[in-house]
Amino acid sequence: MKKRLIFVTIGVLVLIGSVHSQRCDTENETFRAIQSEHAYTKGLFELDSLAEAFETWTLESSARGDTIMFIPVVVHVIYRHDVQNISYDQIKSQIDVLNRDFNWAGGDHGKIPEVFRSLGQACRIQFRLADRDPHGNFTHGITRKQTDIEDIGSQAIYHRSSKGGTDPWSQPHYLNIWVCELEGNAIGFSILPSNNMSERDGVVMDPNAFGTTGTVRPPYNGGRTLVHEVGHYLGLRHPWGKGDGGGCSTTDHMSDTPKQEKENFGCETFPHFSCGGQTDGDMFMNFMDYANDSCMLLFTKQQVQFMRLVLRRNRAALFHSDGYTGLSKMNERSLRIYPNPANDRLQIEFLHHDQLVNVWSVEGKLMKVLRASASITEFDISNLESGMYFLESEDSHLKLMVQ
Ligand SMILES: [Zn+2]
Repeated sequence: MKKRLIFVTIGVLVLIGSVHSQRCDTENETFRAIQSEHAYTKGLFELDSLAEAFETWTLESSARGDTIMFIPVVVHVIYRHDVQNISYDQIKSQIDVLNRDFNWAGGDHGKIPEVFRSLGQACRIQFRLADRDPHGNFTHGITRKQTDIEDIGSQAIYHRSSKGGTDPWSQPHYLNIWVCELEGNAIGFSILPSNNMSERDGVVMDPNAFGTTGTVRPPYNGGRTLVHEVGHYLGLRHPWGKGDGGGCSTTDHMSDTPKQEKENFGCETFPHFSCGGQTDGDMFMNFMDYANDSCMLLFTKQQVQFMRLVLRRNRAALFHSDGYTGLSKMNERSLRIYPNPANDRLQIEFLHHDQLVNVWSVEGKLMKVLRASASITEFDISNLESGMYFLESEDSHLKLMVQ
């Protein structure tokens, strides 16, 4: 619980306010980037102009397009305690939630009030853990590093290897996500896109709010904090705009999200009115509000179209990235393994020619090197502990489960 306990004497209400007000630290982080990076600031003004124009804009056809967009993702795990070195399964659970929620495939649309439900839309964006690193090498799309720096995610050095963090992979070509300790009550933040990319471009997440298993803690255990932060990464603001201290004068420039006074926490009851002139009240179940994960439920049509527009304007290099090739799936055909899951024996078959097969743990440790021929070869794997492994050869890689 750290430093927040010192506020207890001030009063419970103040404590609750401080807990909630920091859930997403994007506005503060963007402000810090503005203070230190002049070029980024200039580009950010252009994002704001784009959003203002968007309110009345007839969208260009490319932004409306139906194409599925693929975004290569690299997850940098930086841990101070072993428990923070989160598992592959936890990372995978988070990627699965991103793909579900950005494609309007959640099973909980019935919880959205009817007047808002028809506004929900799929973004048609697919997130993939990278299978090629910036040097063209095979990768699982995950890096891991131990650090002794407390709350490194709040220290503005998480992106610097020389200071105990991890250098980003080419930011125009990968969505970089650092999973590391955050100070106080913040559980995630993102850097808003700018024509001049910030050196900290990407998303930072606390391991306690990342994915749906492992170290996550309720009520932020549904993987939706990252859905919210990637919304920022693609240019969305909070529904209450930049905030005006509790007034209703600022906006997110989306014509189908009602103006609202400020953030909503927990799970509000519909309708919840906060500003004059609202027909149906706040859209408190929007992914860009602060509700509990179980009550964050939709992006609207305008938000979807704006994110796709920003992707094409500010983040187009993601589409020219070699970070996700999908080739691993095609290449699976040249390498076969039996059985999978395996116990103490594993048979490997290559369809073409002799190859070496490296067996990697999910932590990236080389466990074995096997020499397989163009026929079925059997190997003793009894010294491998239960869990998932990656088999990598010259032109293929496969997942192996050991029981
Ligand atoms: Zn936010």
